[in-house]
Amino acid sequence: MSVTYLKKAARQSTTDAGETREIVQNILTEIEQGGEDAARKYAEKFDRYDGNIVLTRDEIDAASAQLSQQLKDDIRFAHDNVRRFAEAQKDTIRDFQTEIQPGLILGQKAIPCNAAGCYAPGGRYSHVASALMTVTTAKVAGCGHISVCSPPRPGVGLNPAIVYTADLCGADQILALGGVQGIAAMAFGLFGLPQSDILVGPGNQFVAEAKRLLFGRVGIDMFAGPTDSLILADKTADPEIVAWDLVGQAEHGYNSPVWLVTDDRALAEKVMARVPDLIATLPELNGKNAADAWRDYAEVILCDTREEMAATSDRYAPEHLTVQAQDLDWWLNRLSCYGSLFLGEETTVAFGDKASGTNHVLPTSGAARYTGGLSVHKYMKLVTWQRATREGAKPIAEATARISRLEGMEGHARTADIRLAKYFPDEQFD
Ligand code: NAD
Repeated sequence: MSVTYLKKAARQSTTDAGETREIVQNILTEIEQGGEDAARKYAEKFDRYDGNIVLTRDEIDAASAQLSQQLKDDIRFAHDNVRRFAEAQKDTIRDFQTEIQPGLILGQKAIPCNAAGCYAPGGRYSHVASALMTVTTAKVAGCGHISVCSPPRPGVGLNPAIVYTADLCGADQILALGGVQGIAAMAFGLFGLPQSDILVGPGNQFVAEAKRLLFGRVGIDMFAGPTDSLILADKTADPEIVAWDLVGQAEHGYNSPVWLVTDDRALAEKVMARVPDLIATLPELNGKNAADAWRDYAEVILCDTREEMAATSDRYAPEHLTVQAQDLDWWLNRLSCYGSLFLGEETTVAFGDKASGTNHVLPTSGAARYTGGLSVHKYMKLVTWQRATREGAKPIAEATARISRLEGMEGHARTADIRLAKYFPDEQFD
């Protein structure tokens, strides 16, 4: 495949933990040993917060009272879409049983995790939508207890919109605790929380590393690096919309890659010329993030054919993938590696991030090669069961005994033998 880079990234986003791992491991160990006092110490150190950690009902109601009715209506609107999509996902998981052989019945059951710990980031931006995505999905899955941790703002506590959202979506406890200390509180069961069975939600490198280090003791949704986005555009795409969609996603952070893949050089050149102008119109911090991401991590790739474009996209396996090209059904059928796909100009990544209903907690850094994003399924264990009649058990026991002996597992073989001897005392078995 021969593709031409009209713009090549100077740097690659990396999920290499390095120094972060050591920092996070030390904090986790200290909190595991020192409990709530150690967690509070880190809240003071990193977030300059020494207030109440577990929100009371009065505090939750007070947060709600601070929000405009329009904002609450918007959050409810988004919640409704996320909930309905999650319910539709849940309908795709079914319990079943099947008589695989006469007298032998095998079954599958989907059982939700008992306790989910949801992280809603809050350092750089107030990620209201992350509370929406994680808590709603856990609630629909049927998790028995849902905790939410989010970083307090220095001196004042949680953003009221995050509190309102977490409560609306079904959180049982909301904690003003961010970063590693928040993750640790949910994993170890501090501040009256049950120990979480699964930890979900996006976050910075410290949050992601804490989840990775705790994986095994608890489940996690995925290991998330910086957000990334790719746009596939042909000559029918509107360059102004393509440029804005790139800038909108570059806003996430200085190391958030955005990639444009096209078979139209004129479109690529128009977009590349326009992006810096659009970045210049953003507020200062957002503009700096977008400018740094565009300078260091963005790529513009020219291909000869749409097949080559699709293959390039699959190789990048982006978290967010947008198609602004003819024949959307062809792309839907052809593309195979992405976290969430946005087909056509009429929808965009921000719609999915905030309000349309698909989840925005998605695989980054190429993880879309092997996983999708957060869904009801991530909170549910697909477990199996079986039962048998004595006749149904007979051929299974015979095969089990022979296979076990071949493996040298005499104890296993005897568990089969004893049943054959009990149920069929008049027969001889090899
Ligand atoms: P955050 O809530 O993840 O992190 C804030 C916390 O980081 C603080 O509470 C503090 O405890 C901790 N921290 C800060 N400096 C530290 C240090 N030196 N040592 C140890 N801990 C430290 O908020 P953020 O930093 O703004 O990051 C949010 C991330 O979430 C971004 O990378 C964003 O792109 C990502 N995100 C991803 C998605 C997605 O679905 N992929 C959605 C929303 C946000």
